[in-house]
Amino acid sequence: MDELREDCGIFGIWNNADAARLTYLGLYALQHRGQESAGIAISDGTKLYSYKQMGYVNDVFNEHVLSILHGKNAIGHVRYSTYGASELRNAQPFAVEYKNGSLAIAHNGNIVNYEAIRSRLEAEGSIFQSTMDTEVIVHLTAKAEGETIHDRLASALNELKGAYSIVLLTERELIAARDPYGFRPLVIGELNGSLVFASETCALDLIGAHYIRDVLAGEMIVVSGDSMRSYMFSNKTPRASQCVFEHIYFARPDSIIFGKSVYSIRTALGRILGMESGVEADMVVPVPDSGVPAAIGFSQQTGIPFQMALIRNHYVGRTFIQPHQTIRDFNVKVKLNPIAEIISGKRIIIIDDSIVRGTTSKTLVKMIRDAGAKEVHMRISSPPIDYSCYYGIDTPTRAELISSSHTVKEIEQFIGADSLRYMSIEGLRKVVGEDADNFCYACFTGDYPEPFELTKRDHQLILFDEGSLHG
Ligand code: SF4
Repeated sequence: MDELREDCGIFGIWNNADAARLTYLGLYALQHRGQESAGIAISDGTKLYSYKQMGYVNDVFNEHVLSILHGKNAIGHVRYSTYGASELRNAQPFAVEYKNGSLAIAHNGNIVNYEAIRSRLEAEGSIFQSTMDTEVIVHLTAKAEGETIHDRLASALNELKGAYSIVLLTERELIAARDPYGFRPLVIGELNGSLVFASETCALDLIGAHYIRDVLAGEMIVVSGDSMRSYMFSNKTPRASQCVFEHIYFARPDSIIFGKSVYSIRTALGRILGMESGVEADMVVPVPDSGVPAAIGFSQQTGIPFQMALIRNHYVGRTFIQPHQTIRDFNVKVKLNPIAEIISGKRIIIIDDSIVRGTTSKTLVKMIRDAGAKEVHMRISSPPIDYSCYYGIDTPTRAELISSSHTVKEIEQFIGADSLRYMSIEGLRKVVGEDADNFCYACFTGDYPEPFELTKRDHQLILFDEGSLHG
């Protein structure tokens, strides 16, 4: 249940008279990947225009804003900050002018050698506008030698370590690229002759584009005029390490990512979980929304009836005003409410996608018991999360992850369930199928594909905007 956060969604479109509006819609479909800020950069072939603000896509853009974004080529971004504070200067697309013209970039992922690169660039005299890792890509590209923008960008990307799916727009080109591990998804689509790039296919579906294929790990696609060229830009060819958690939780279930249907993967996870850890019970209840497909699979496998006995309030934002009086379990209750009439006197199997700190699961189990359940069994469609992610998912520190320091039995006691079982790594690999070796499982195994730095600088510059001064 939404204890982990994705760090961004990106979108790009080439050669469409309605580029601004279609980018807005693409971002709308990708809103689940980031809710802090949204932005669009657009090119009319001679100039770049950019607009970004804090807030949801629908709050940031309106008819007036979209009407002043002229051009046929655009990129867009929705952000959840995993690196750099949640403030306007860190919103994307990040647009700059440099000696060769203008460029704007939108990035999904985390650059794990960011601190080292930034320190080196600062020692050489670079001045940074933001505190986010994406800005080093711009500085490295601006400083790189090379005839073309894609030569310079390739040179920049080859200095990076970590996760990046990017779309970059200049006055005359749109470039999409994915890091050589392919941590984050990026798909290519087509809409009436216009090329489209998006983090997930749900963005293609909304605008009526059809899915062509994924941008490959280590591939750069350069679009200009009527041509699309593909380059394998990377000077290293590691084993692909696509984020398996995209399939378990982050991506929308109606998307195809890494070449597979997210919904199919999640229901298959539920079926395997049912095989591995079935238990006698009266009903299978998902923690909505992310637990629903796995609960359907679990129910199909075990024959235990599926019931939507937990109802989610879809209109709760990331923060809300707390009540004055103490309401027991308020933070979970405001999002989820059990239907006591269905639950009372029954043996319940709750299906969730993950347990992070354990506190949410503990509250949930208690709420279901308070609603009259006779037994509460918890089944988790991922293996225990023992390690933090450094590749673009906002996980707490290892010390805060309950399974890094507790056995399954101890967690079962802590959350107060009659039984607790997790998906096995073998089961997860089986579901992913023939591609299993091309995924990252580091948050379960600690086997990190790319080394990372743990230090984060303590940025001193605090910028206020007009709203915060008056607020
Ligand atoms: Fe995904 Fe986990 Fe790997 Fe991070 S560590 S990229 S969340 S699988």
